Amino acid sequence: MGVEGHFTHNIDDAERVFTARQPDILIVEKNFLDGNSSRFEKVIKLLPGLRFVPVIYLGTRDDQGLGALSLFNQFQIVRETESLINSARELLLPSVRIRFWGVRGSTPCANFENIEYGGNTSCLEIDAPGMQELLIFDSGTGIRNLGNHLARRNETSCNGRIFITHPHWDHIQGFPFFKPFYDKNNKFSIHLPEQYRGGAQEILSGHLTKTFFPVTLDMLDATIEYVTQSEERVDYDHYSIEYLVANHSTKTAIYKIKIGGRTIIYSPDNELPLKTTPIRFIEKFQEFIEGADILIHDAQYTLQQYKEREGWGHSAWERVIEVVKPTGIKNLFLTHHDPDTDDESLRSRDRRLQQYVGAPFENICLTKEGAEIRIPIVKDEKKVNRTKLNVS
Ligand SMILES: [Zn+2]
Ligand SMILES: [Zn+2]
Repeated sequence: MGVEGHFTHNIDDAERVFTARQPDILIVEKNFLDGNSSRFEKVIKLLPGLRFVPVIYLGTRDDQGLGALSLFNQFQIVRETESLINSARELLLPSVRIRFWGVRGSTPCANFENIEYGGNTSCLEIDAPGMQELLIFDSGTGIRNLGNHLARRNETSCNGRIFITHPHWDHIQGFPFFKPFYDKNNKFSIHLPEQYRGGAQEILSGHLTKTFFPVTLDMLDATIEYVTQSEERVDYDHYSIEYLVANHSTKTAIYKIKIGGRTIIYSPDNELPLKTTPIRFIEKFQEFIEGADILIHDAQYTLQQYKEREGWGHSAWERVIEVVKPTGIKNLFLTHHDPDTDDESLRSRDRRLQQYVGAPFENICLTKEGAEIRIPIVKDEKKVNRTKLNVS
């Protein structure tokens, strides 16, 4: 893999480079921060995609100006060039990258106390080496930032597929705010499991009528194809998709994505009941997720909260762990955080999750808006060479 580097001491130049192209990693030297810390902070805030970029800082923890780097979800401090090279090498392995643009459940919450984990609702982007098209899951309010990030690049066109798990508000509310839909050079396919009231086009056009919103589907300039997604595996360039129907109040997909020799399960809305009803659901779910490298699952409640909300379609984090443990899943990311759960509670939940690291999980944590998971691709699926993840 060829690596292209850009070296600069000038913040305007850095801004120009960041806008034109999302870097794979960012190496920041103490001297650069000394003079540019506050401008640098402004640039990061302006460019939402930058938060996903892992940063390696060459300096010490006591350096002034380090505050600007706290806006990144993943930064590590190194003192010597040798550890810098090792860290960079690890981060630059050809990987499947999973980016969380929205992790909140039910409704967006733009509150001060939700800033750390993020207030935007479900939206996930997956990328792998060689992919020319975008692969997006759900179009909650998080997709707006993804669209802004894409619109800033001076590319002539962008194409992609958006797989919506189900049409509850929190999974489609960002849909008309996705800027690439307003460019006639762009092409998208929107996928959705069949609903009681019809397929993807009927559902979205029913939501986007003048009564509810000024933009209707026929006002979108991009070429858009609507696909009613079937449960069976469908192969696309670079990846395949299949799904299991979740235990939720409308037909909802638990998507299984095979990409870069890896298997990722995305299940933002799924109730794992405490009892055995619906019949065999837990067993079916366990069979479906077995062997996956990464599971991203609904954990909106604590067990205590769940007991008052049984049948609402979401899971308690304790129950998710209990059900997932026997399947041998090593990497579990809990998502769809309740809008009434503040950062402090999520932080303490995250700390409690750490007790499961090593037994049986290698990685277990809550998802954060702006975080990225990098998992190295496997060329030969039978020979799993390494599972070490970079989690921001
Ligand atoms: Zn939801
Ligand atoms: Zn839902």
